[in-house]
Amino acid sequence: MTGPLSIFVLSVRGIETARRIKAGIEGATVLGLEGRVEGADETFANFGDTIREHHSRGNAILALCAAGITIRSLAPLLGNKTGEPPVLAGADDGSAVVPLLGGTTGVNVLARQIAATLNVAPAITTSGELHFGTCLLNPPPGYVLKNPEDAKTFIADLLAGKTVRIEGDAPWLEQARLPVDENADLLIRVTSDNAAPGKGELVFQSVPQNSPAPRKRGRLSVIGLGPGDPDFMIPAVKQALQRAEDVLGYETYVRMAGPFRPDQTIHMTDNREEMQRARHAFELAATGRSVVMISSGDPGVFAMAAAVVEALHESQDPAWHGVKLEILPGVSAAMAAASRSGAPLGHDFCILSLSDNLKPWKIIEKRIALAAEADLAMAFYNPISKPRPWQLPRAIEILRQYRGASTPVVLGRDIGRPGETLRTITLGELTPEQVDMRTVVIVGSSHSVSFPRADGGSWVYTPRWYGTKPQS
Ligand code: SAH
Repeated sequence: MTGPLSIFVLSVRGIETARRIKAGIEGATVLGLEGRVEGADETFANFGDTIREHHSRGNAILALCAAGITIRSLAPLLGNKTGEPPVLAGADDGSAVVPLLGGTTGVNVLARQIAATLNVAPAITTSGELHFGTCLLNPPPGYVLKNPEDAKTFIADLLAGKTVRIEGDAPWLEQARLPVDENADLLIRVTSDNAAPGKGELVFQSVPQNSPAPRKRGRLSVIGLGPGDPDFMIPAVKQALQRAEDVLGYETYVRMAGPFRPDQTIHMTDNREEMQRARHAFELAATGRSVVMISSGDPGVFAMAAAVVEALHESQDPAWHGVKLEILPGVSAAMAAASRSGAPLGHDFCILSLSDNLKPWKIIEKRIALAAEADLAMAFYNPISKPRPWQLPRAIEILRQYRGASTPVVLGRDIGRPGETLRTITLGELTPEQVDMRTVVIVGSSHSVSFPRADGGSWVYTPRWYGTKPQS
C-alpha cells in the first residue's frame, strides 16, 4: 500500500508548481530545501537523506528537480522492483511530469493525476500500458497479481504479437485493449482461490474488499462539461474527471467526457429519475470513493446539481453529510450559443425551460408572458420534443403578442459538438420545425439588433444601454 505523496522542492520556482499539485492530490506534503525555498509545509537540509527516508516509509515521491539527482539519491535502495513506492520527476515550472519507478504501485496513475492538475500530458513510457491501456502489473483495488515475476515476459510476448484468453471476471480487463482471442496460448486467469500459476499464465487473485482499511473521505463532484468542445471545459472539471473512481451520467455525456481509464467505473444511465441517480452518487461517495456526476453545460442549469443538493437536504445520514461535495460550473448552452452569434444576451435576460415535465404548463406561459412584457431577452432550453410538440408553438404565439416580427432569434444546435449549426432568423420567421431538443432558442429584446457579417451570416447583439443610447 503506497503512502501519501511527498513533493520535494529545491528551487524557488518550484514552490508554486508544488502548491498547484498539492491542491489536486489529497494528503500531499510539500517539502522545501531549507534556506532556499519558502512556503513549504516542511523543510529539509539534506535532500539525499530525506528522500531516502520518505522512500523507505513507502511514501510516493515527486521531486521537482533534474531526474538524475533523484535517481542517484535513490540508487542504493532500488533492489526490489515489486512493492517499491511510485517515484516521479517533475519540471519545477510544471511543464513536465515523468514517472520513474513504481510501475506495480500505480506510478502511471499518479503521473496522470499530477499531469491533470498541471494541464500537461504525462510522459508515460511503459509500452504495455501505452498499447493495452492498462498496466497488468498494477490491477485496481480488489485484485492482486500472484506472479509479478512472470509479467515482464508475458507483456513482452503480447507486445510481440501473441494473443491472450481471459478466464474469470475482471471488468477492468474487459475495458483494456488486450489482443483477446479464445484460442490463444497465453492466459490471464482471475480467480478467488490460491492455485499456483501455470506456464504462460498471469493470475490475478480477487481479494475481499471489505477489509477495515482506514477510509478516506469520499468526494462527490457535480461537474459541467460545457457545450461539448473540451476547450470550453474548465481545468477544475478536467481534474475531477482524472481523479474520479466512479463516473455517473447519461451515456451521451459520459462519452463526451471520456475516454476513461480501465480503473474507473462508469455507471451509465438512461434513468430519468434524477433524484435516484443523485442518491446513488451519495451512496458511492459515502464509502470513501471519488465520484463524478456529469452534466452537460452547467450542472446548475436544468441539470444534476439541484437534484444532488436536494438529495443531501433530504438525507439524515451523517455519512452523506460527511462527503466532500463540490459543484464545478460549465459553459451553459445559452452562453455558448450567444457567444457564437455576438452578444444577444448583452443586457438583462432570462433562461426558461419549456419542459413541463416537472412544472405545470400554466406557470411556463405566465413566465414567458411576464418576461416578454418586462422586455427581457430570453433563452429557451428543452424547446420541443416528440412528447411535447405543442408547447413551442404556444410559446411563439405568446412572444409575438409582445415582440415585433423583426426581433432577432438565434437558433444554436449542437453548439461545440460535431455538426454544430447556428442560424440567425427573426421572430416572424421562427417555426417549430426549425427547432429540436438539441437546439437552444435565443429571442432578443426590443433593443436587440442584427447586421451582416463580412464572411456571411449575421452578428446579433443586445446593447448594454436601454432607452436612448448614451453619448460617448
Ligand atoms: N445543463 C445544460 C442544459 C441541460 S437542458 C446547460 O447548461 O447547457 C438540455 C437543453 O439544453 C437542450 O434541450 C438544449 O435546449 C440545450 N442544450 C444543451 N446543450 C446544447 C448544445 N451543445 N447546443 C445547443 N443547445 C444545447
